Amino acid sequence: MSYEITLIPGDGIGPDITTATIKIIEHTGVKVYWDVQTAGLTGIEKYKNPLPQETLDSIARTKIALKGPLTTPVGKGFRSINVALRKEFDLYVNERPAKTYKGVRTLYDHIDLLIFRENLEEFYSGIEHYIDSSHSAAETIGIVTRRGCERILRFAFESAQKRGRKKVTAVHKANILKYTSGLFLDIAREIAKDYPGLEFNDKIIDNMAMQMVLNPYQFDVIVTTNLFGDILSDLASGLVGGLGMAPGANIGPDIALYEAVHGSAPDIAGQNIANPCAIILASVMMLERIGEHDVAKKIEAAVAKTVGEGKKVTRDLNPDNFVGTDEFADAIINEMDKM
Ligand code: NAD
Repeated sequence: MSYEITLIPGDGIGPDITTATIKIIEHTGVKVYWDVQTAGLTGIEKYKNPLPQETLDSIARTKIALKGPLTTPVGKGFRSINVALRKEFDLYVNERPAKTYKGVRTLYDHIDLLIFRENLEEFYSGIEHYIDSSHSAAETIGIVTRRGCERILRFAFESAQKRGRKKVTAVHKANILKYTSGLFLDIAREIAKDYPGLEFNDKIIDNMAMQMVLNPYQFDVIVTTNLFGDILSDLASGLVGGLGMAPGANIGPDIALYEAVHGSAPDIAGQNIANPCAIILASVMMLERIGEHDVAKKIEAAVAKTVGEGKKVTRDLNPDNFVGTDEFADAIINEMDKM
């Protein structure tokens, strides 16, 4: 079986970490034709367009993409290409696992959280403007729809059930945002009734943030709206040692795009020092989607072993004894060969 997958190496450290990932996947023997495309700053350099039509056409055709991080100018310039891609392909689910790996310094051991964030609506959708020409105030519009709530909640409950999870927590601010967050909570309670085998509860976002830091073990699967999910999933990454090991998936009705949660890290780009684990783990999620379950498990086990031993890892994981991105990937390949 062979697959065609769109590959967007991305900006900054993107080419370093995607090269490492592809080397690992190719070593497994899975046959992938990578349709290499550009976006972000690289898109501007090549096509004067941060989201070239060629890239959109490729994703529409292959229906699956692995994407390196893209640089977004802060407060000016073009809007986030990540947000544009989610809108273009109706990628309404953002799935972000947060799991501890031995060898990564963390506040807690044995964390295995699964976070589902609604990816298209509410305050993160970028519908905003200044109210007057002197910029005396700005307004953002956060629309929450029944359809948007239903499909993210249904996806989260279905995933929890299929993966043998025990509990789903819906996170909201329905005490203050009685309509937008209130709608989400009402629908969560309705949908929970269809899954009697799963324990269900809800938490207000501010309390949730504190509870996750105090005792993350009380949570299993978390589902929430866009902005809260963005913040909580980074908080969860912090609980498991930071963004270096945090993968993410953006999933729609028929297209999925896999990426690292971290950004393009321009401060360390091109120096062969970036940790490739987050995007390698995203590629593990991608291999699961295309049905290559054994290969996915093997790569994750090899990452866990290499990180656990801590001898051939990047500087962020072991500042006293480290190797480059390339050698880290080679060490993971070496572990796979021993299995
Ligand atoms: P960042 O995640 O790029 O970097 C934050 C810090 O973490 C930096 O010190 C960086 O060196 C370090 N870091 C990040 N990834 C690392 C890795 N794999 N290995 C080792 N160290 C790593 O966040 P930022 O600096 O806020 O953002 C830089 C750019 O990335 C911005 O333009 C931002 O918009 C963009 N960004 C893109 C995505 C995405 O494409 N999904 C996500 C977040 C940020």
